[in-house]
Amino acid sequence: METRCIRIMREELERQTLSSRAMLVVNTKGRERPLPLCPLRTEFVRDRDRILHCKSFRRLKHKTQVFLAPQGDHYRTRLTHTLEVTQIARTIARSLLLNEDLTEAIAMGHDLGHTPFGHAGEHVLNGLVAGGFEHNLQSLRVVDRLEYEGKGLNLTFEVRDGIVNHKKSGRAATLEGRIVSFADRIAYINHDIDDAIRAGVLREEELPKSCVECFGDSHGHRINTMITSIVSNSADKDEVGFPEDMSREFDVFRDFMFQKVYLNPAAKREENKAMRVIEELFHYYRTHIDDLPPEFLQFIESDGKDRVVADYIACMTDNYAIRDYERLFVPLSWG
Ligand code: MG
Repeated sequence: METRCIRIMREELERQTLSSRAMLVVNTKGRERPLPLCPLRTEFVRDRDRILHCKSFRRLKHKTQVFLAPQGDHYRTRLTHTLEVTQIARTIARSLLLNEDLTEAIAMGHDLGHTPFGHAGEHVLNGLVAGGFEHNLQSLRVVDRLEYEGKGLNLTFEVRDGIVNHKKSGRAATLEGRIVSFADRIAYINHDIDDAIRAGVLREEELPKSCVECFGDSHGHRINTMITSIVSNSADKDEVGFPEDMSREFDVFRDFMFQKVYLNPAAKREENKAMRVIEELFHYYRTHIDDLPPEFLQFIESDGKDRVVADYIACMTDNYAIRDYERLFVPLSWG
């Protein structure tokens, strides 16, 4: 087969096999800077690849999910979280005959804007930067502006829309984007339970009884129940989501995790130190702006110093931020 036909064949397959509710790639609103089409890949697959090959994606490996710069090899990082979200989202999209390629691209990119030290870092920058700081907006900024030395990844409208609207408070324009929002929550609730038990912050017996009865008594069982219930509740509807009773229990689970894990004083103790690191780095670079790499400095005139310093810090991994803090503020002993 001639290679130039392969993309067209994939586009045709979407028309034949996907639901009428699916976002077909041929109907994309496209990219800000149009590109010649790829002979093999559809535009959404190509976006997935652009995200996979960018530097921000590789840095997810060393960014905190919940447990700060964890030493144990089995804790989730932002990268493994992203992969779990992606697979949960793909299963739901595939089951509902929605566009799996679009879903995958959104999921792979959704957390690219996360700061070091998870939500602690986000919270600090939000308080320091005029105009605020939110990780979903930053994810969009990474793909639109910061990647490729400031040229951006030039992604399609639907992928960008799904990335910026992945939080519970958002609402993506496509069902594929809304699937990623649910997959994100399913992934983190379940893996945070697993990691919290691993860390000794939580015992399995402490999980709320009604949630265990509703979703199941093991990690795999619970993820499976959540995915299956979304799929069966969302067939033939113009919306995706849990049935009402499950939605209630899911919120109970989430509230429980906030009380027991996310706001746990043991976790908070280290979090305060992490926040201090981010704050000191921010003030340092705010007054030593010329220390920033040129790919960040180019946005000073258009976006202002605060934003550019926040960009630089948000891009750091946990380890990099700690090393940089030590370099700047911890005196060296004589070798
Ligand atoms: Mg996420």
